[in-house]
Amino acid sequence: MNFDRIMIRYGEMALKGKNKKVFEQKLQSNIAGKLNDYPGTTIQKTQGRMYVTLNGEDPQKVMEACQNVFGIHSLSFAVKVEQDEEEMKAAVLLAFRDAEGAKTFKISSKRTDKSFPIVSQEINPLLGGHILRNTEDVKVDVHNPDVEIKVEVRHEGVYVTAQDYPGAGGLPVGTTGKSLLMLSGGIDSPVSGYLTMKRGVELEAIHFHSPPYTSDRAKQKVVDLAQELAKFGSKIKIHVIPFTEIQQKIHREMPEGYSMTIMRRMMMRISERVAAKQEVLSITTGESLGQVASQTMESMSTINEVTNYPIIRPLVAMDKLEIIDISRKIGTYEISIRPFEDCCTVFVPKAPKTKPTRSNANYYESNSDFTKDIEKAIEDSYIIEVDAHENHQQDDPFEDLL
Ligand code: ATP
Ligand code: MG
Repeated sequence: MNFDRIMIRYGEMALKGKNKKVFEQKLQSNIAGKLNDYPGTTIQKTQGRMYVTLNGEDPQKVMEACQNVFGIHSLSFAVKVEQDEEEMKAAVLLAFRDAEGAKTFKISSKRTDKSFPIVSQEINPLLGGHILRNTEDVKVDVHNPDVEIKVEVRHEGVYVTAQDYPGAGGLPVGTTGKSLLMLSGGIDSPVSGYLTMKRGVELEAIHFHSPPYTSDRAKQKVVDLAQELAKFGSKIKIHVIPFTEIQQKIHREMPEGYSMTIMRRMMMRISERVAAKQEVLSITTGESLGQVASQTMESMSTINEVTNYPIIRPLVAMDKLEIIDISRKIGTYEISIRPFEDCCTVFVPKAPKTKPTRSNANYYESNSDFTKDIEKAIEDSYIIEVDAHENHQQDDPFEDLL
């Protein structure tokens, strides 16, 4: 016997009325999106639960795919059998064996179909006895069992579920709007994107690229990172912005101590324009207070001056080690530490101002006009669309340059 379905619980949310419907529809379509690789599967929704029927697909792989979907609290393998004693015994044994290492168990049964001749109090010892006879060193513990096996006798059949697997938590991606993630090749911004998606936000990404100072492989890092993030949601559009000319102009015309602050302000201005064009209402960054020179309170204030878009900074209060932990868990760490320069490191001054002021930045910027450069960068930008399986690249104008 094998598990024939996965039970999905999301009931934790205090969702009501219309929100609940939107939440459930989005969750169901997000799960369906993740199960494209398993065409046998189907999804059914019942009261506050969903079931993914496996129809012969690999249970472990389908479980893993579902565990990446935000909005799910927990999952269990389940099997539906006939109202038949022998089948029910085999099912509870399968369920117990799924909880590897469990030494104690409890059976909780519910008899929804009252025509079933065995009452709950008798079902538990009957099925529990079967587990005890077929295992060694295993005991029943009704108060604090390693695994609770749930048996539900309904008129259409008997459902047996085993141990709980953790879901990704959060809200289904697409239920709380869109944000433009400023995605570098570093460790922080992908983690930041992940945490934003966890709250139901769909992402587009923007990446500033400075060929030939930054290589095509630096850009590939960003594509690979977006691909990892796409596993938790759906396709991600990366807006690739050619940033070389603006960086060179900053380098030539702005005082060295302010070049980084002003570069960030230019990035923010361009990001805001792209967000507006895409009807995206916020910008997400991987900034974390105090981490580097550009992430002091003074820097944040000076950089933030150029936009009134909400800036989502999920990492602002996190330690680097906590961020690294998450990046390992979500599979972006190994990509982030590949050693290719990003556009910021190439032009970074030896001694950037850690306490820039808005008035100085405005004063320096007023000596040069960047309007045209910003427009040109946006005009020359292009989109790479990435999903969890493949990349669709659209006319890369840098291809010949590299
Ligand atoms: P990360 O690890 O995300 O690169 P960081 O610690 O290197 O962050 P900074 O270099 O100060 O920090 O960058 C702060 C944030 O600015 C990044 O988290 C990212 O959101 C954004 N950013 C930096 N460089 C780029 C870039 N080339 N393209 C897009 N966004 C960028
Ligand atoms: Mg960086």
